[in-house]
Amino acid sequence: MKDSNTDVSKVLTPVLWFFQEVFCCEIVSISDDIMAFMEIESISGNENEVAAWLVSYLASFGYDAEHQSVEGRSNVICNLKSAKLLFCSHIDTVPPFIAPTLKDGVIHGRGACDAKGVIITQIATAVRLTQQGLLSPSDIGFAYVVGEETDHIGAKYLEQLDFSVQMAIVGEPTRNLLCTRGMGLLKLEFTTAGIAGHSAFPESGRSAVHELVSVLDQLEITVGSNPEFDMGTSLYNIGVLTGGTAANVHAPSATATVLYRLAEASSAVISRVDTLLEDVPHTSYSIISLFEPIVLASCDGLETDIARFNSDARYLLSKAESTFLIGPGDIRVAHSEQEHITLESISDGIERMITLITTILKN
Ligand SMILES: [Zn+2]
Repeated sequence: MKDSNTDVSKVLTPVLWFFQEVFCCEIVSISDDIMAFMEIESISGNENEVAAWLVSYLASFGYDAEHQSVEGRSNVICNLKSAKLLFCSHIDTVPPFIAPTLKDGVIHGRGACDAKGVIITQIATAVRLTQQGLLSPSDIGFAYVVGEETDHIGAKYLEQLDFSVQMAIVGEPTRNLLCTRGMGLLKLEFTTAGIAGHSAFPESGRSAVHELVSVLDQLEITVGSNPEFDMGTSLYNIGVLTGGTAANVHAPSATATVLYRLAEASSAVISRVDTLLEDVPHTSYSIISLFEPIVLASCDGLETDIARFNSDARYLLSKAESTFLIGPGDIRVAHSEQEHITLESISDGIERMITLITTILKN
């Protein structure tokens, strides 16, 4: 027994050593590339320098990427006409810029997971797919867009181009879980009109704040669920509340901005809001922004999740037979001072994407 064990280890050790070396080199190079990408500040509206960097980065792997002009800004696109598989994500970040640092296998800084780390992981996956002969370089396309964090203008321009692919992978930090559904978003501004007067005399005026607070207190009845989407109940947040002029004056006006995360069609929430306001004569609302919930593609064997955040995935739905939303990193640290990505989640992300891609393209 002893002899045979020794024999096996003699064979296995060089093989393990080889894979460890290859893996270590790859992950070191990926983390260096993510840091270099993050060094370039690219807060929404200021993406041109990072777009130029990404074009040369793709060229270093033999990909001939180009710029798509977006009102003086620049998406980076490659192989849209020939690709079966499209990798897509966004090159803008939220403010403020936070310079990258690497410690104990974790990269911290702005864009670490949202979404520069995700983009480099996608490109590393593409390189792996071609090295392993699973796809040819021309089978793989890239679309890295501007403005995802604000008005999705880059994705809207991308959607106008004439192309179609078999599968699109939209990269966001989903902890490598496949998000098969995405909550919608509805932003409402409520406005209440009051009449100013001395607060010692209730009959001398009418407080807009009192009426608006009473409406906001009942918002719970405006949210519901839809089994078709299977995302639980819609959520709401009263993010901004303003009104009144002084403590001793009936407030002449008040406004509140409410953001709903939709687990159902927006019309369901809007109709409940209309019903709520039927008996509230001085309060009205306007729709500031609206995105309906989306259903995305799934893949047997991969763990799934619900994306509570908005993304560019909806703009790929008309371009791809199947649109997937997945990437390393955790959205819960994105947009914060603690934004980070672990090298472990990057390696795991590459493996899961390869499983996803080979499963889908084989069918
Ligand atoms: Zn993002």
